Amino acid sequence: MSKIKFTIITLFQEALEPYLNTSMMWKAKDKGIAEFDFVNLREYGLGPHKSVDDTPYGGGDGMLLRCEPVFNAIEDIKKKDPNAQVILPTPAGEIWNQATARQFAETEGAHYIILCPHYEGYDERILSIVDYKVSLGKYVLTGGELPALIIIDSVVRLIPGVLGGETSAIVESFSDGDNIEYPQYTKPYDFRGMTVPDILLSGNHGEIAKWRAANSKNLQK
Ligand code: SAM
Repeated sequence: MSKIKFTIITLFQEALEPYLNTSMMWKAKDKGIAEFDFVNLREYGLGPHKSVDDTPYGGGDGMLLRCEPVFNAIEDIKKKDPNAQVILPTPAGEIWNQATARQFAETEGAHYIILCPHYEGYDERILSIVDYKVSLGKYVLTGGELPALIIIDSVVRLIPGVLGGETSAIVESFSDGDNIEYPQYTKPYDFRGMTVPDILLSGNHGEIAKWRAANSKNLQK
């Protein structure tokens, strides 16, 4: 069994697949660490047109995801795994952060269902089957697909075995709350007159560690 599973309910699987088949997400899948599954919400649509949305009561622009297709899709997934938890990307959610990503990554054998709304949003009653409401920040995206990818990426890369160096995720930005990683340099030493701080070439690991600590930032300060 994989260490983590994501089932993504979406109308736009083709928007998600290329990213999940690339780089670290592909590696996590290939190593059996993460599993990504898709459910096409259209299959749960109503009537001959397999409709998944309708106009808002009280008027207004746009279309809202209806309850029936969403509840039926989630209930079907939960029949196979009653412990699966539902994440809803929404501007009304808690702002996503590294500490929450780490908490998700450390939950062995977890299965998260991510519902990707589109259009104007969703019927509010859908919240009754949601465990986590997640906001990506104070801006509006077209749908839940990009938030789903961001949530998945930020969690999966923290699972041991996904990144190359086991310390990479421990020392990077936000690993300790509001810290931002120290500046880093690679070859050449001199690029157009901009040189690398000499301390980094000194071989003195103690002094390098001090320099890095002094040059890390804390967003709260
Ligand atoms: N009418 C909604 C509002 O004003 O809050 C915006 C709907 S948006 C066009 C469609 C969907 O994209 C949302 O229901 C949500 O799933 C997702 N979405 C958009 N912005 C988001 C954000 N900042 N964080 C998380 N999800 C977001």
